[in-house]
Amino acid sequence: MARRDRYHFKEAGGFVVDATIKRGGEDAAFEIVPDPEVCVIFLKQHVGAPVQPLVGAGDTVVEGQKIGDSDEAMSVPVHAPVGGKVLRIVDAYHPVAGVPAPAVFIERSEDAALPVRLPAFEPGALDDTDRSELLAGVREAGIVGLGGAAFPAHVKLGMRDKVTRLVINAKESDPNVACDVRLKREKPADIVAGIQAMARLLGPNEIVFATRAEPGAFPELEARLARAGVTVAHIRPSYSVGSDKLLVKELFGLEVPCGSYPPDVGVVVHNVFTAYAVARALFAGEPLVSRGLTLISRQTGPLNLWVKVGTPLRHVLMHAGLDPTVYDRLAIASMLMGQSVPNPDVPTLKATAGICAFGPDEPSPYAKQLPCIRCGYCNLVCPVGIYPVLIMEAEKRGDVRRMKKLHAEDCIDCGLCSYVCPSAIKLTGHLRRAIRAVRQ
Ligand code: SF4
Ligand code: SF4
Repeated sequence: MARRDRYHFKEAGGFVVDATIKRGGEDAAFEIVPDPEVCVIFLKQHVGAPVQPLVGAGDTVVEGQKIGDSDEAMSVPVHAPVGGKVLRIVDAYHPVAGVPAPAVFIERSEDAALPVRLPAFEPGALDDTDRSELLAGVREAGIVGLGGAAFPAHVKLGMRDKVTRLVINAKESDPNVACDVRLKREKPADIVAGIQAMARLLGPNEIVFATRAEPGAFPELEARLARAGVTVAHIRPSYSVGSDKLLVKELFGLEVPCGSYPPDVGVVVHNVFTAYAVARALFAGEPLVSRGLTLISRQTGPLNLWVKVGTPLRHVLMHAGLDPTVYDRLAIASMLMGQSVPNPDVPTLKATAGICAFGPDEPSPYAKQLPCIRCGYCNLVCPVGIYPVLIMEAEKRGDVRRMKKLHAEDCIDCGLCSYVCPSAIKLTGHLRRAIRAVRQ
């Protein structure tokens, strides 16, 4: 019988996502991972236009220095996560794009100058601070959606005219990510300060903090949220409701139409980590050069680690006592929608919230794919009600019209169809290609 507790998420069709692997992760305090010898910083870590490098090989940089930027509105700068020397700017394997992309390699120096900081604002004087200056501060800090979407935060925070609601997604839904939960325990003041800054920018009528935790699980955070006039919504434990579109439906009953986004129905959704990063940027002058993430392996269990952006996975594994030659099957982001990476030299990105490391006795569930048996499970489980198996067949045929008709673009890339498939077919790969084909 399907279990229903905080580690078993019931999904459409009665399927259950088992998140027991992260049990105890919320009690694991963040450990700071020492800076690696070499950081690898991609020039594109966000949705939108890539940035151009502002440094060249041989240049000396300090931590927090802007090393890439663009004039495009839909773009955010990248910063040096460590002080040292730029070794080279060359293509490296990009873990989200899945292809080589330009990256700045920085060798850390022991005697680098002190980190540079951005101009900071006074938290108590938010109402008197010019909104355009705050928005520029968020952009200059290079903040993107840290739940995984990597959408430039300043773009969403600039939608004041169309938005009436601000939702903070505390997103405890990923089966392998516990860092959001841990952040709520360790950084309640920063989280609430970030929400207040977001509210100043958007001017919403309503602010909702959506959490799957029981009332009273985070007493300090809950008290601060109440004082700030933020409503806490305790929603059912679910994996798919972690998606922005489905969260908006769950909270307000609002359907986000195909091809649209939550702001189109008046709602901006930000991840709890993004709120934290906004506070650190605006009130402490810290550009986004590090973040918390969860590393999960059978050997270590769930570990919450604070890691510089651009740290090679090899360095993170070794810090955790894992041998990268043994734990050589790696995936970043959520266990269900994450991407496997070809080697441990691939670095973390701004939006990397989770790393899964698998040993040799844990082969990929998709290693032996069998033919489709037309069971329909993938259709049953799909939280947005599209037909993954039919879209897969259309994608194999290259039939873009059919893919459009089947609303391939509505896919939220949750990975549930692959997860339940008894033939171990990786439907998500077909769905991602279908979305690309439809949008071209
Ligand atoms: S990955 Fe897309 S098609 Fe598959 S279940 Fe999720 S939303 Fe549906
Ligand atoms: S779940 Fe797998 S086997 Fe069943 S219909 Fe979908 S693709 Fe075919």
